Amino acid sequence: MCEFCLKHGEGKKWYLQASNYSDELLSDIRRRRMIEEFFSNPDQLTRGIEHLNRLDNTPKFIRSMIARIITGRQKKTHFGQVVPIEEVEKIFGFVGSIARVACICRHVTLKQEKRYCYGVSISPDNSWLAEVIKGLDKSFLTGPDTSGLEILSKEEALSAFREHEREGLCHTVWTFNSPFIGGVCNCDRSDCLAMRCTVTQSIPVMFRAEFIAEVDPDLCVGCRQCMRVCQFGAIVYSASNKKVAIDHRRCYGCGICRSLCKKNAIRLNDRNKVPSVANLW
Ligand code: SF4
Ligand code: SF4
Repeated sequence: MCEFCLKHGEGKKWYLQASNYSDELLSDIRRRRMIEEFFSNPDQLTRGIEHLNRLDNTPKFIRSMIARIITGRQKKTHFGQVVPIEEVEKIFGFVGSIARVACICRHVTLKQEKRYCYGVSISPDNSWLAEVIKGLDKSFLTGPDTSGLEILSKEEALSAFREHEREGLCHTVWTFNSPFIGGVCNCDRSDCLAMRCTVTQSIPVMFRAEFIAEVDPDLCVGCRQCMRVCQFGAIVYSASNKKVAIDHRRCYGCGICRSLCKKNAIRLNDRNKVPSVANLW
């Protein structure tokens, strides 16, 4: 159980608690303002990327102090967790609506509209997201659906996530002023600020999944397809036995490698049951 499960999930998975998606939390005016500001001000992400790049030349002790401050602040405002597809399916099973929107990170890093982010709501009409989108700068939303929101059925959303998984994208769930959960995204290390921050700069702004990958050596044929998609560099190849193994200290439990393995050699285990990483988030 990660810290959020204890704090916001009554000891169960925090992102599966319907109360964390509730309209009641959303009625907080500060939270609404924060969400509006988040979507309507992509420049703050640009500044974030510039700050991150500057950290490369910062002395180690100052870096770790900055890292602690950023992580602590993000836990209160906008923090995420990696979730494998079966957990996404559970979330889609109880939310009332799912709306696909353009990813703000890709808007900033690629200058392209990539619809990799999904607003989720317990309400049937996702009206909070519609309100936020209405107020956005028009340059944020271009492309075929200029209304900004694409409402998807649970089946459509899940099928889109399977497609994202084939692209090698890692599913993540996000708070907007914790513990309110507003979205599930599809991230990669090159374009997403959160992944860059967490993985490249070692400043965590998201937890690892509640799972950890394991390879069955009897099934693995050493094709290395899984290594190609692991964004965390957690899969190692042994030239002597011509098979791969998982580096548990690096694995985030996203399950993307599993979906690429044609031999079904990879499964996800409960992180809590693997003592070496049970407390590694
Ligand atoms: S994709 Fe599957 S079979 Fe191929 S190396 Fe990875 S675990 Fe082994
Ligand atoms: S080893 Fe597999 S489950 Fe672990 S981080 Fe890499 S892709 Fe994700």
